[in-house]
Amino acid sequence: MLLGILKETSPGESRVALLPESLKGLKAQGIDISVEAGAGAAAGARDADYAEAGATITTNRADLLASADVLPGVNALDPADQARLKAGAVVIGFLKPLDASSALQAAIERGATLFSMELVPRITRAQSMDALSSMATVAGYKAIVMAADRLPRLFPMLMTAAGTVPPAKVFVIGAGVAGLQAIATARRLGAVVEAYDVRAAAGEQVRSLGAKFLDVDLGGINTEGGGGYAAELTEEALDRGRDLITKTAAHSDVIVSTAQVPGRPAPRLIRREAVEAMRPGAVLVDLAAPAGGNCELTKPGVTQQINGVTLLAPLNLPAEVPVDASKLYARNVLNFLGLIVKKGELAIDLTDEVLAGACVAHQGKPVNPRVAKLLE
Ligand code: NAD
Repeated sequence: MLLGILKETSPGESRVALLPESLKGLKAQGIDISVEAGAGAAAGARDADYAEAGATITTNRADLLASADVLPGVNALDPADQARLKAGAVVIGFLKPLDASSALQAAIERGATLFSMELVPRITRAQSMDALSSMATVAGYKAIVMAADRLPRLFPMLMTAAGTVPPAKVFVIGAGVAGLQAIATARRLGAVVEAYDVRAAAGEQVRSLGAKFLDVDLGGINTEGGGGYAAELTEEALDRGRDLITKTAAHSDVIVSTAQVPGRPAPRLIRREAVEAMRPGAVLVDLAAPAGGNCELTKPGVTQQINGVTLLAPLNLPAEVPVDASKLYARNVLNFLGLIVKKGELAIDLTDEVLAGACVAHQGKPVNPRVAKLLE
């Protein structure tokens, strides 16, 4: 069996799916590993490190695509690469099957088995494969570090002979995986932190990190959408959150927004007037930008200055911390490979709920019902 590690081709991508340290267990099973030259360079993994770990280095991408049985990646392959796949190859990665399912058509036609890391069920048994959480953790950290860098103020309270500097005030909207890491990072830097989420369960987690949870009366509606996720709210309930956000924005130096509802565009929670209420120099990082953004002024991927407020809308923050993002992602991928590779051979059992959940297509047909519907 040949496992291939390709260089990512998406613009701005710097992560790699497996690191040299990931290869030991695979080599021990007798798996051949071939790495495209430079695949790990931006993530701190040199070709020589992969070679030392037992991989072959190749500059012939087309040949690797045509011969690999398994291709763990970060993003989906482009259609030209998909058309070169070995028939029946297994492709793993963040394949965006629900946002860009038609972009996977060429691989499905090659009979490839596609596993999407976004679709790995978030159940206890699959926690070690939860790449969404790994990447959200990195993004939450990096959002605060970026905001601290842009803010013309200090984060911690400083008491000096020249007087006292008050701490920065940080407001985190959406206290899921990314939001909680943003809160923890802002607290470590000494900021005073407030947070808002529609899930009541988030309140306890926010408080345990030393931040203040802002409660809003949403009229007693159900806010839990199952699996720990939020439900899509009514316009009236959203408006109550928007009012709180506008009020809190006026005294916040930094806002990090992370609110998402799975499979839906991000809720528009931050009105123009909230941004206008912020002080000059304040920073807003809209982590929901890939899903359209939480702020009505957000332009995904574009940094704007609005009345002296910096509005950042990054599309791929984990790629800005490629060494540790790759380290975490590679562990998630390696654990996932453990489900489909037994004693050095592919053994795909689609009755396994983790594999069935993550499988986009198998033997030329869509497997995931939501993807099948999109491809009809
Ligand atoms: P997410 O990225 O879908 O959403 C981020 C946050 O936005 C969530 O906390 C959500 O409640 C919040 N949100 C949605 N609409 C909002 C609104 N209108 N106003 C304010 N906030 C809003 O979620 P996530 O971070 O991936 O995960 C959320 C939760 O899922 C976690 O906190 C956890 O409880 C659960 N989870 C479980 C597992 C597991 O069991 N393996 C793994 C990961 C996450």
